[in-house]
Amino acid sequence: GGANLGLGSWPARRARISPDRTALTGHDRTLSYAGLADRTARLAGALARLGVRPGDRVAQLGVNAVSVFETFFATWLLGAVAVPLNHRLSGPEIRYMLADSGAAALVHSPDADALVAAASPLPAEVRRVVTVGHPGSGPAGGLDYETEIAAGPALDPPPPVALDDPALLLYTSGTTGRPKAAVLTHANLTWNTVNQLAHLDILGGDRVLCIAPLFHAVGLGQITLPTLFKGGSVEPVPRFDPGALLARIGEARITGFSAVPTMLQMLCEHPAWETADLTSLTTVVYGGSPVQERVARAWLDRGVRVRQGYGMTEAAPGVCMEPAEPAEPGDQAPGGVLSAGVPHFFTDLAAYRDGHPAPLTGEPAELLVRGPHVFPGYWNRPGETAEAFTGDAWFRTGDVLRVDGEGRAHVVDRVKDMIISGGENVYPAEVEAVIHQLDEVVTAAVVGVPDPRWGEVGVAYVELREGARLTEEALRAHLAGRLARYKIPRHLVFVPGLPANATGKIRRVELRQRAAETFPTPEGPR
Ligand code: ATP
Ligand code: MG
Repeated sequence: GGANLGLGSWPARRARISPDRTALTGHDRTLSYAGLADRTARLAGALARLGVRPGDRVAQLGVNAVSVFETFFATWLLGAVAVPLNHRLSGPEIRYMLADSGAAALVHSPDADALVAAASPLPAEVRRVVTVGHPGSGPAGGLDYETEIAAGPALDPPPPVALDDPALLLYTSGTTGRPKAAVLTHANLTWNTVNQLAHLDILGGDRVLCIAPLFHAVGLGQITLPTLFKGGSVEPVPRFDPGALLARIGEARITGFSAVPTMLQMLCEHPAWETADLTSLTTVVYGGSPVQERVARAWLDRGVRVRQGYGMTEAAPGVCMEPAEPAEPGDQAPGGVLSAGVPHFFTDLAAYRDGHPAPLTGEPAELLVRGPHVFPGYWNRPGETAEAFTGDAWFRTGDVLRVDGEGRAHVVDRVKDMIISGGENVYPAEVEAVIHQLDEVVTAAVVGVPDPRWGEVGVAYVELREGARLTEEALRAHLAGRLARYKIPRHLVFVPGLPANATGKIRRVELRQRAAETFPTPEGPR
């Protein structure tokens, strides 16, 4: 026996305090906290009748919607493990993740019909397919969500769920290799919520947009779960449409959202930006990759201080965040705007240099993280789990950060992305930030290629704004005055676009391959 302390108990607990407040408003339905608690319990009952047991994995596919939240909370209420999958992946990739997670059921909305068909035949473990929004669709005629909810009683009483039970398998972005699933426990996500709320002034009257995808840690953890914990209202947004969002912010008096940097950039570059009413915004946070300085400046010019968060899937996800008040007025200046802030309330930091403990403050070093929100390990990958932790159980982020004298963290780059040229360390992010200063540039990425003389040299891929003209000579002249010679990429390549994943991260593995093919070493590409 025992209490159900899991995330699945949140809707009913919250409904005791504020039953009539709006919890969720989406394109599919609007629910109060009482409504959310009721539908969650009935969906949990339905999943149990379909044979889903505590510990089983329930996969999900579809755009952000109220039903995605219902499925999360129902899965958690019955002690099962939610596995939200990226609907921008290919059929074979989805089939791989369904098999890798050993999903017992798949819940998907109509927008994922084609993808589910492309992933079929589904692995044999997927015993149930539940389709949201239309009866009998999907492979072998799926079961209908609404019918299943209506068919029988709520799960009552819910089984005991301990905080250390797994809640979520979340695939990492796959930026550095094949995506692997991080296991996040109920405790991990609960402590992350506490951490975020120590930083973010979210109240019950808040109304936030959920625009980052819910299969990504930023979408779920940075502002969404904290808002639901506080009894605020969350509006899941199915598709990122900058013009529609700018209008929605003013119309619904939206108070905040959590975004990835590409979204902030697309919003401030949209024609409706200048006239949009942003006066209701109090809490805009972002994370996941670096934001361009001029993007942070554009938001600040409109009176919105976008606050950087730094984190990763494995930390559920928050590690650091820029505090609500800038440390000093000068911090409002770009540069100060780009700080990742201070560690979260229950988060401890340490550093490694060359694989050994090093002072945290001063020189850039690999960041180590410890805290009750840090995951226990990767799903079915004991080797990679062991490598991810130091001997005394600190998580190795694989990121290089610099912590300044005031204790503020600045993300430098990933250890794996660092280029070593002539014995000197070159961080692509630093070079990219200088290229991004040019108005002609949309985005740029720098990767290394093997070089017989220097070990490695840099290749910069640069995407220009439509109609913009920038010569290689002009770009070189810009870099020459601002970067040490060894940091300037040997090759500059103008491209129509850069390969990016669903959260806007550049796929560097792909660029590195491309660079090695275009610029082979005399012995050929390695
Ligand atoms: P994979 O682990 O599969 O290679 P990934 O690391 O990109 O993919 P995520 O967990 O989604 O998967 O992303 C976390 C990473 O994103 C961090 O380790 C860091 O490299 C980067 N990141 C997060 N926040 C920031 C930030 N504020 N500025 C720069 N980079 C960031
Ligand atoms: Mg990672």
